[in-house]
Amino acid sequence: MNIKLKCVSCGKEYDAFKIRYKCECDGTLDVIHDIEALRKLNLKKVFDERWGTREKPYDSGVWRYKELIFPVENEYIVSKPEGNTNLYDAGRAGRYAGLEHFLLKHEGENPTCSFKDRGMTCGITAARKMGAKLVACASTGNTSASMAAYAASAGMVGVIFIPEGKIAFGKLTQALAYGGKTLQINGDFDDAMDLVQEVCNTLNIYLLNSINPFRIEGQKAIVFEILQQLDWEVPDWFILPGGNLGNNTALSKGLMELLELGIIDKIPRIAVIQASGANPLYKMWKNKAPYERVRNAETIATAIKIGNPVSWEKSMRGISWSGGYVEQVTDQEIMDAKAWVDGAGIGAEPASCATVAGAKKLVEAGVMDPGEKVVGILTGHLLKDPDATVNYHKSNLTDRDIVSNFANAPIQIEPTLDAVREHISSLIQ
Ligand SMILES: *Cc1c(COP(=O)(O)O)cnc(C)c1O
Ligand SMILES: [Zn+2]
Repeated sequence: MNIKLKCVSCGKEYDAFKIRYKCECDGTLDVIHDIEALRKLNLKKVFDERWGTREKPYDSGVWRYKELIFPVENEYIVSKPEGNTNLYDAGRAGRYAGLEHFLLKHEGENPTCSFKDRGMTCGITAARKMGAKLVACASTGNTSASMAAYAASAGMVGVIFIPEGKIAFGKLTQALAYGGKTLQINGDFDDAMDLVQEVCNTLNIYLLNSINPFRIEGQKAIVFEILQQLDWEVPDWFILPGGNLGNNTALSKGLMELLELGIIDKIPRIAVIQASGANPLYKMWKNKAPYERVRNAETIATAIKIGNPVSWEKSMRGISWSGGYVEQVTDQEIMDAKAWVDGAGIGAEPASCATVAGAKKLVEAGVMDPGEKVVGILTGHLLKDPDATVNYHKSNLTDRDIVSNFANAPIQIEPTLDAVREHISSLIQ
């Protein structure tokens, strides 16, 4: 099966098995599949036959779709296996957003508790195929957690560049525990991203940020798996947070390919939600303006605290193609929505909850109809950022001007039956 790399800006093509992250013209690269050859394979049937299999690597929710993701020899594949995550009814979080048919795909249920594992299994497999021994990434946290784990599985060394003091505790814990060589740099994510590209290009280290086109291929599996869970019935909308913009790029690319293959026959709309303090895509889309980076990006949702996203061009392509929408939400809106996602018994980290905050906003603005079928993507696990959650419930986010509207604070009591009765009497019939 033939794949190649193609520049998004100028169309120049490259060998997919020679290491390259960008075109000579500085444009980002897509993996291009041989759609004509794939059409002959009746892939929908192949994917459905693999559903629930124990056979490796097809037990993975990424490698189940191998032909349409990365047709590589199975011996190179590094899989944990990832994916096979739940698609929940949003419950009270759906009522909060004002939607009647709202499903939440929980990508926090991956092996390292974020969707990054889907791209990483593919990226590490590419690293192995290309003979790399050292891999690196800049990260707001989840990419480093994922890369460290996959590098450990593959027997490689992972070098991680993180912005000093700006990553959530759960994520730093994972990076250190899995043995990632963690370099804290004196700067923000965008500085770390600039540095890691320079390092990889000069020191012969394989770069595993989502600028790596194989990462995007793996992440397409989220939409493949959702559609398969829905028996290939396409919803009206997909909604997800946008940081470096790889995830929504993967979503639209996967949909374009399914449409070309005739596996789906309808294009859903894609809504990307940014934090209002890290909103370069929103500004560009809203003002129909040229791309411009945002300096000193700031939000409590550290996973999307990115001012200079590498995939803005590919992202915009997919949003336009789908007749989609870009919205921004404040930290207040993110944390209030999170209280509802968590309170529904589902739970997710702050960036993920931009999805629900954004849905609520789009329903209120009349962009989304309350009766439309909407699938939101929860990108990371609740326990990734325990500080944000506990501080919200203890009303400790006033320094960020966040009011804890839906706080569930712990109550201190004396160890007596009377004290208990006093505090729970309203719960007892
Ligand atoms: C990486 C990440 C995002 C942002 O995804 P992009 O592909 O960078 O747009 C959102 N939420 C979580 C939890 C993440 O880890
Ligand atoms: Zn080019």
